[in-house]
Amino acid sequence: MEDCIFCKIANGQIPTDFVYKSDNVVVFNDINPKARVHMLVVPKVHIKSLNELEDKELMAELLQTVKDVTKKLGITDYKTLINTGRGAGQEVFHLHIHILSNS
Ligand code: 5GP
Ligand code: ZN
Repeated sequence: MEDCIFCKIANGQIPTDFVYKSDNVVVFNDINPKARVHMLVVPKVHIKSLNELEDKELMAELLQTVKDVTKKLGITDYKTLINTGRGAGQEVFHLHIHILSNS
């Protein structure tokens, strides 16, 4: 999707050091970290928010990615956050799961 910052990151238009990358999902560090570790789990395909996510395989892969990446980094204690809708604090309208950890 044009002018979507996370589409540009996910498809390589904006050079980014990925923490993890698969055919369907990328993980990269938040530009404005709110914790010692603050990563974003992002589907490559443009989906505006959780409300528009219908692909159940992708749904599962997103959560599996949270588990795989935290395990790989040795992070056992962390928060996950999905802001859905402007009123809930969503600022980037391309679905993403925040992973936050201070441990
Ligand atoms: P939201 O409020 O939509 O749930 O979260 C958007 C997040 O994306 C924020 O934590 C913000 O710091 C992060 N963010 C916004 N623009 C960029 C960017 O260009 N690169 C990276 N790495 N993170 C971004
Ligand atoms: Zn997008």
